[in-house]
Order: sequence, then structure tokens, then C-alpha cells
Amino acid sequence: MTADDWSAQISGGEELAWNGGEWPLGAFAAAALIAGEVFKVSMRRLRDHAKNAPLFEDLYAPARSACVRLAPAETPHATSLDAIDLISGGAIGNSFLYTLLRLPRCSAEIRVMDDDESALSNLNRNALLRRSRIDIPKVEDLASFAVDRIAIKPLVHRYGGEEDPDLADTVIVGVDHIPSRWSAQRSRPTWLGVGATEGFSVQVSHHRPGQACAQCLHPEDAPIDGPIPTVAFVSFWAGLLLAADLIRKTAGTLPSDNEQQVFLPALRPESWDYAHSPINPRAGCPNCAELGVVS
Ligand SMILES: [Zn+2]
Repeated sequence: MTADDWSAQISGGEELAWNGGEWPLGAFAAAALIAGEVFKVSMRRLRDHAKNAPLFEDLYAPARSACVRLAPAETPHATSLDAIDLISGGAIGNSFLYTLLRLPRCSAEIRVMDDDESALSNLNRNALLRRSRIDIPKVEDLASFAVDRIAIKPLVHRYGGEEDPDLADTVIVGVDHIPSRWSAQRSRPTWLGVGATEGFSVQVSHHRPGQACAQCLHPEDAPIDGPIPTVAFVSFWAGLLLAADLIRKTAGTLPSDNEQQVFLPALRPESWDYAHSPINPRAGCPNCAELGVVS
């Protein structure tokens, strides 16, 4: 594997020289790529138990080579971030904060909202969680990672229900609860980043005024029934992609509307070249109708 500031590459054949430096985003992507390959090596030992052998072979086959580019090479390292509201103390929120806390000279004021306490089942994927911190409110644990230039203010609150606080202009949502994404969008932030995972796939989008909103992209509530299957590197991708988008927004170099969302099946990173797409404003979206984006 190799990485530079904004991109990562793995190859099963050729030897790659490491190009990483002080800026860690590309290296994080390289780590997530390799974690996926290690996971697949483990899964292939279960091949004899597969119910659908052809699908199993396709899904868990090694990636011969893959290249993920989080931003163009010349993208500035913009690290003076705005005030941010982070709605998620879970795996995606952990990954997002893990990333920001490791950026050189990053400064930010972050308020993190969640009403949950860390549990044993969170240890596999919450990048900042330690065994000794189980049963503590997630936001309080995350706030303990604050450093000089990165303030993290905890708010024990389940966003998307009653008596939600006013939100900052920059909002990151990483919760599975889809109506929370709608509520955050209706607060009219000037920039909303939404990170979502399902199965082994990651979907990250950003929404500015005039663009298709989070409710256009996630129009149906899908109540969660039973335990949520999780694997660490999938959640990590979501937080990493959100952080990269936020830095691009701060640097004033966000991609065009044609790249408003990224959908990455994390086990098949070869698909990165086709992972970005536009989001069409959805006729009948109540939020966009109110704003006149659609009728
Ligand atoms: Zn909409």
C-alpha cells in the first residue's frame, strides 16, 4: 500500500513506495483499504458455509489493486474549522473525531450530541472507545479527548425528537435514525454532511442551500429492528469521508454538484472511480418544496 496527502493505493502485485507525510488523510484511507482486505482473508475461511457461493466469491475476492482519492492533490490543508454540531456519539462520530484529532494544527469547536452510553458491543468500531470507558455517556467520553485547539462540548440529547437545540451553520450527522437527518436539514445549516452505512457499504453526502437535501436522498424512514451488524472499517470510512468533505468545504474546494454523494461498497474499493454521483432534488420533498427547490 501507499498513500500521499489525499489518496491511498493498494496493489497485490507491484511494490509501492510510501509517499505519506505529515498530513494523515491518505494514510487513513490506506489503513481502511488494508483493513478491508484483512477482513476478507478471514471471511474466505468460511467459504464452505456460504449459501450463495458465486456471490460469496465475488464479495470476498481480494482487490488486486484499488486507488481512493479523497480530494485533488493540490487541495489546501484547511484546518481552521468552523463551529460544528456533530450528531452522533457512535461509530461514525468516533471516526470523524478520530480523524480531526490527528490533523496537524487543526482547530475546531465541536458540540457532540447523543443520549446513549457506550456498551461492550461498541468496542469493535468506536475508534476512540476504551474498555474502561464502557457505561459512560458517549458524549462525555468523547469530550474527554478535547485538546488545546479542539474543544469538544458534550450534550446528552437524542436529536430529532422534542426540544432540539438550534444548530450551528455546519452540521455533521452520523446516526442511523433517518428522521434525525431530516430534522438537521430543516434547521437550515449552510453545510450539512451526512454519513451513513448499511451492510458493507458507505454513503456520504453533503448539502448546501439550493442543492438536493438530505431528505431527497433519504426519503423513507427505515426503523431499525434488532441488533445492528457492524464492522469497524466501514464505519471508519464514513467518518473519514465526512472529515475530508468538511476540510474541502473549509478550503473552498468542494466538488461539483455531480459529486454531491459518494457510495462506496467498502469490500470492493475498486469501484471508487464510479463512487460519486449527483443527487437529484426529489419532487414532493417537503423540505425542498418549502424552500422552492422543487414544486
Ligand atoms: Zn429535499
